[in-house]
Amino acid sequence: MTRDPRYDILFQPVKIGAKTAKNRFYQVPHCNGGGYRDPSAAAAMRGVKAEGGWGVIFTEQTEMHHTSEITPFIELRLWEDKDIPSIAKMATAMKTHGALAGIQLAYSGINGPNLYTKEVPLAPSALPIRTFTNDPVQARAMDLTDIRNLRRWFVNAARRCRTAGFDLICLYGAHGFGIFQHFLSRATNQRSDAYGGSLENRSRFAREVIADMRDAIGDDLAITMRVSLDETIGDLGFSNAEVRDFIAMNAELPDLWDLAMGTWEDCSGPSRFKEEAAQEVWVKGIRDLSPRPVVGVGRFTSPDVMARMVKSGTLDFIGCARPSIADPFLPKKVEEGRIEDIRECIGCNICITGDMTQGMGRCTQNPTWMEEWRRGWHPEKIAKRGESERVLIVGSGPAGLEAARAASERGYDVAVAEALEVFGGRVTRERALPGLSAWGRVVDYRLYQLGQKPNAALYPGSRLSAEDVLDFGFQHVCIATGSRWRADGVARQHVVPMPIAGRVYTPDDLMAGDIPSGHVVVYDDDHYYMGGVLAELLAQKGAKVTFVTPSAYVSDWTANTLELSSIYRRLVGLGVTIRLNTGMAAVKAASVEVNGTYTDRREEIGCDAVVLVASRVSEDALYQALKARQAEWADRGILSVKCIGDAAAPAPIAWATFAGHRYARELDTPDIGDALPFRREVTALED
Ligand code: ADP
Ligand code: SF4
Repeated sequence: MTRDPRYDILFQPVKIGAKTAKNRFYQVPHCNGGGYRDPSAAAAMRGVKAEGGWGVIFTEQTEMHHTSEITPFIELRLWEDKDIPSIAKMATAMKTHGALAGIQLAYSGINGPNLYTKEVPLAPSALPIRTFTNDPVQARAMDLTDIRNLRRWFVNAARRCRTAGFDLICLYGAHGFGIFQHFLSRATNQRSDAYGGSLENRSRFAREVIADMRDAIGDDLAITMRVSLDETIGDLGFSNAEVRDFIAMNAELPDLWDLAMGTWEDCSGPSRFKEEAAQEVWVKGIRDLSPRPVVGVGRFTSPDVMARMVKSGTLDFIGCARPSIADPFLPKKVEEGRIEDIRECIGCNICITGDMTQGMGRCTQNPTWMEEWRRGWHPEKIAKRGESERVLIVGSGPAGLEAARAASERGYDVAVAEALEVFGGRVTRERALPGLSAWGRVVDYRLYQLGQKPNAALYPGSRLSAEDVLDFGFQHVCIATGSRWRADGVARQHVVPMPIAGRVYTPDDLMAGDIPSGHVVVYDDDHYYMGGVLAELLAQKGAKVTFVTPSAYVSDWTANTLELSSIYRRLVGLGVTIRLNTGMAAVKAASVEVNGTYTDRREEIGCDAVVLVASRVSEDALYQALKARQAEWADRGILSVKCIGDAAAPAPIAWATFAGHRYARELDTPDIGDALPFRREVTALED
């Protein structure tokens, strides 16, 4: 197939300083949880994007000097020459297919607590460090010597970037994370010298650093500047109007303007709260202020929207972080006219949790992300099948569908049996909840792919028993039968069932359309999105909602997906009463007894209904029944029976797609026993 001429515009080369990008697909910097701890994994991940056709590929933020670092978050480090080989490995991987290799230099200033180096943080003004965790540390205001030093450190970093083989340097001044913003914003720059006050003065530091860098490295590297379109803290902050004045005033300063938005939460808004291209109104018209090209983001997954952004003169480059994670081959698929094959980002922000938890990056849609080097998984290539031929998958949730997709890709004859008349398991139920419709792409993508495969068959309305499975004679059986929400309150506060008198509702009841009314108490001891989403659903339907949680935060874990503040705002906006630090001691006939998490102070709240968002229990009866009959497997031709996804242990959807993918990859592979199932990078010991 060839590409649709409508998208030709996306494949035009564009100059950035003395460099030329081969097309307009621009992977903006994004974290991944691996960073300096897993440099080979991070490099291989970028290399796969090069293969996938991106014209520009950036690293995550790179701490460019030891006096400013953001421990516990794991990014890249370029503190001394010793760091060059690991970032050079990344530059090399990025350039393998003609992409430009970019590195983002970050001096974290008022955002860097220096918990590792124990250095005193330096910032334009002396204020408390601004981090997710409100670290009890303040920055010292930089004097003129500090500013001269910092300029020199940027030059040193630029030289190291050149040695490492990069084409582009991005100076980070967005999201509240980079020193350039700290100088530009009146909120964080309260200086009265030549670096503070007027916008002209606040821009001085950026002008000096870029001039110093150009003196030192000439045209060898192009320099881009990343700023937020609006600091989103009102007039005191670096507002959209000031951003425009700054760009007009310094029109030719960088070789490209990279326009992000607000804080990271604002910029990487989940689909629950932000549409594709949500930044369009903020970015429109900026391109006319400067002769330099402009890149902007907006969770772009649709080539039509991308083409419109360029044709309308809004952007020169289509900036993507999450869409490039969900589908590293997005540009290639557009180029080859395979739009239907694009694995669209669902905007769930699970990828961000890798950084927030210092775990390893995960993606709900792309289970191979960050496993390119560790496990040798490629998003578009998979080994041909082994000796056996036939696989039965029971259950069509995200685990079962991904197992089926990947196993059929390997060439196995795959049958998927689903008890219900609809495929998709929990995703099909949850996509109907407020704000979660984009999550349906997890199922849509996989059903479409399976529909293209002659060796995959899907059977709805097929609830299988152990006898059925034993009779069918498949060689491999994958049990992906999911989970259900508990109705007994067991989760974290209660490890054994709580006292319950009368009816309670579970998320499954609400998703099946059994929705209570009147005054409804939602008890959330799950702490991810479900409690908040159901409170929203109930409020939308006219119920008076009281949200009770033992946590100090609404939907606690969503701090890791950058949604917590949006959820809080939404619930308050809908009139939901929020009771934090409050557990539920008992459910009575027409009331609940709540107790303080720290005080155990008891209180009775009268209500018409109670929704328990507690924990889930695996639907593994079929697996247990088959295990009990293991002695019969060989006679029936069965080589393996495995239980995966929520049926093994309930977790978010990304865990299920990962489990499904892993299942398919490991079919007919040698048993490695107790060995570690992936490669691990171990830091070399110094003498
Ligand atoms: P996961 O997240 O692990 O993929 P889900 O709960 O989303 O799990 O999906 C499990 C699916 O399995 C559901 O659609 C459910 O109807 C189906 N299922 C459960 N038990 C059986 C069974 N015995 N036979 C066929 N399908 C089943
Ligand atoms: Fe998109 Fe979710 Fe994947 Fe992140 S984890 S890239 S938001 S699908």
